[in-house]
Amino acid sequence: MALFWLFSLTAALVAVLVYAPIRRYRRNRRLAAQPLPATWQQWLQDRWWLYPYLPDTVRLALHRQLQVMLANTDFYGCNGLTVTEPMRVLTLAQAALMNAGVGRMQWSGFPVVLLYPEAFVREGEVADELGLVAYERQELLGESWEQGKVVLSWADIEQDLRGEDGHCLVVHEYAHQLDGRDGVMDGTPPLDTAQDLKRWAAVMAAAYEDLCQQTSASARLIDPYAMTNPEEFFSVMCETFFVRPDVLHSAYPQVYGELKQFFRLDPFLWVH
Ligand SMILES: [Zn+2]
Repeated sequence: MALFWLFSLTAALVAVLVYAPIRRYRRNRRLAAQPLPATWQQWLQDRWWLYPYLPDTVRLALHRQLQVMLANTDFYGCNGLTVTEPMRVLTLAQAALMNAGVGRMQWSGFPVVLLYPEAFVREGEVADELGLVAYERQELLGESWEQGKVVLSWADIEQDLRGEDGHCLVVHEYAHQLDGRDGVMDGTPPLDTAQDLKRWAAVMAAAYEDLCQQTSASARLIDPYAMTNPEEFFSVMCETFFVRPDVLHSAYPQVYGELKQFFRLDPFLWVH
């Protein structure tokens, strides 16, 4: 009898472990094949400066990724914000662009999105490298947590959608998720081979060092926040790659080349 229950339990566990991912995969594949609703396309066309520049193939790939992300991402409005459908579509479309070239999700799972109406305040105790604890109050536009959580300010996303300041908060925070996929946020996302890793490390280290020196005029066009540390450098490089490809292409062509290969996209061609 005990053997029977053990067998039944094992069978049920195997069914859950094997069948659930297959069902999820099939559901996502079905979603990706559906055309993006016309209203959503209209929101993207009217409100996101970059969207009209996207080549048809990229746009279609983005739609596929967006459908899957929208169905799987939980949004929570914070500080009284009611999250509307245009907010969800316009936010995730920018993250979906990061997957459009590769054709699959590049982060593990679907990060939960906490949306604030504007910049939010983070208070708490922080320890420095010597272990000294201080109370800190910081105003943040966005934040990315290792446990699959992205915190964003809608006011800043709206500003990015208008393309006014060369930033992209959504790409920045999702780049941190990408970076952390190998278990550590250090400015290096998972790469295919040891050779890729070696080349990536050399290119990024050289550019980071050069940026910190601020020697060239084009380097000075890059958000100085990139100088904070290698992980912020990676996230700012991803932002610049998508929204100011001309700047990155001219300041650090090798970094541009690495990101072009990584994302399998060439944004420099879209706006030229
Ligand atoms: Zn950051």
